[in-house]
Amino acid sequence: MNEAPGAKTAEKKTPSNEVVISLYAAQDKIYPRSTFGFFTKWRWVMIWLTQLVFYGTPWVEWGQRQALLFDLEAKRFYIFNLVLYPQDLIYLTAILIISALSLFLFTAVAGRLWCGYACPQTVYTEIFLWIERKIEGDRAARMKLDESPMSVKKLLRKGGKHFVWIAFALWTGFTFVGYFTPIRELLSEFAHLHIGPWETFWVCFYGLATYGNAGFMREQVCKYMCPYARFQSAMFDDDTLVVTYDEARGEPRGRRSRNVDSESHKLGDCIECSLCVQVCPTGIDIRKGLQYECIGCGACADVCDTVMDKMGYAPGLIKYSTQNAITQKWSHKQMLQRILRPRVLIYASILTLLILGLLTSLWLRTPFRVNVVRDRGVMARITDDGMIENVYRLQIMNGTETTQHFQLSVNGLKGLEIEEDEVKDADYSEHKKDEKHAKDAGHDKDAKHADDNKTIMVQPAESRWIIVDLKIPDGSVESGSHKIQFEIQSVESKETVTEKSIFLVPRS
Ligand code: SF4
Ligand code: SF4
Repeated sequence: MNEAPGAKTAEKKTPSNEVVISLYAAQDKIYPRSTFGFFTKWRWVMIWLTQLVFYGTPWVEWGQRQALLFDLEAKRFYIFNLVLYPQDLIYLTAILIISALSLFLFTAVAGRLWCGYACPQTVYTEIFLWIERKIEGDRAARMKLDESPMSVKKLLRKGGKHFVWIAFALWTGFTFVGYFTPIRELLSEFAHLHIGPWETFWVCFYGLATYGNAGFMREQVCKYMCPYARFQSAMFDDDTLVVTYDEARGEPRGRRSRNVDSESHKLGDCIECSLCVQVCPTGIDIRKGLQYECIGCGACADVCDTVMDKMGYAPGLIKYSTQNAITQKWSHKQMLQRILRPRVLIYASILTLLILGLLTSLWLRTPFRVNVVRDRGVMARITDDGMIENVYRLQIMNGTETTQHFQLSVNGLKGLEIEEDEVKDADYSEHKKDEKHAKDAGHDKDAKHADDNKTIMVQPAESRWIIVDLKIPDGSVESGSHKIQFEIQSVESKETVTEKSIFLVPRS
């Protein structure tokens, strides 16, 4: 049975001499050594970029509200100038599909770029490792500290590290919740110890998950929990760039000093220093070939280049290369030319089409949405003045940052008219909530809808329910169900939304 690197399986004999192999694999702790070099620099650039975006975005204001806010309670997402309602779920679905396809594209081109440079697990593990190194020292010092008996110095170092880890993890949890609750309010609630139970739960939950995953689980999340590691090989082909050990150049490996002539000793360029294993965050030996545990971080390539430099050899014993480039001894140029192969071009074309489609659809999106619901609580009825009456509820959602006025008309049946006195607010608690959420989102409201009977006013980013009575003279149409259309036009943008419904005429 192949063991995962760092895993130890236990074997024991039963009285009947059967060998029992425990499926539980105890892990050896991995102490990654720090690295410097081209890929390490890029990893840190990505860490800074992703974390500046993550920690900074909730603090960005847009008008009088938070620029990016997923207000789940109000069922509304604010994304800079956009206000999305549950009916806009298609955009979020499109964003998810685009993200998945981007992952396929990047993986086909250069393997696990996401894992090595931008995945939160890699990023937070790297940050936690940095804190650990600052407090406990690099690999050798950390190993020595772990082996040493408990002392005041050890307690202070370990305690200090966990204190900083927990503080950082809680800040991460707080920022995460700040995407769902206005972060400035959250901070003020936090400062006054008035934070709500759900916010407290999610700050602690996300904080603990960060602390546990980046502080303790680390490479085990990538090896055992992440499904992407399992199916990524399906996206690889022989032209995918992956971190590769050049076996033809490196073997036979052997220790030597700088002055030894490797050719006369019939040695390859690998000096068996094991530094590539020591820096690996998943504890694998890249010289054994491509393994699913490799997250493509390039740390081994960086450290090996420093070794090659010290030995006076050419860099690139471990490098980003492709299977074809290694076996067919392609030049760098030939290898890069294969990036634009059919598979990559197909992924890129679909991705471009999807992005263009999403942008066009957002561009053409009507600045408001309408839902029409027949009021099932009020049956079609004949009124005292000889009219047949149907009652509807209309939800008008203003998806802009400015107040909009709407004009309502209805067609589909001759003689059908809106009972003007009866266009009024529905007394729904949801509507009251909307007013509150709109206020919370920073829109200037006195919560009054100063519409007349001709126009309906809806505040910025507000969703307003109204009741509409439709009437038609009794006997003008036969009994049964008749198709009708509501037309709602924005006075400001002149855009019109048409919603279908039915008008019921009871048997006389
Ligand atoms: S770092 Fe380079 S030279 Fe050292 S063991 Fe790894 S491959 Fe060989
Ligand atoms: S083998 Fe190299 S590239 Fe792969 S995870 Fe380990 S250090 Fe990173």
